[in-house]
Amino acid sequence: MPRDQITLACAECEERNYSTKKNKRLHPERVEYSKFCPRCRKHTPHKETK
Ligand SMILES: [Zn+2]
Repeated sequence: MPRDQITLACAECEERNYSTKKNKRLHPERVEYSKFCPRCRKHTPHKETK
């Protein structure tokens, strides 16, 4: 099962706050998670970046 490293960036300030892994076969499109952004100091959507 290919599990690839991805980076999650805040959708509001673009800060890259998290890195995680996902299975690209299960999620071929960009994923989005609600995470706490220390720069915005609140939960924001975090989108996958390269
Ligand atoms: Zn932010």
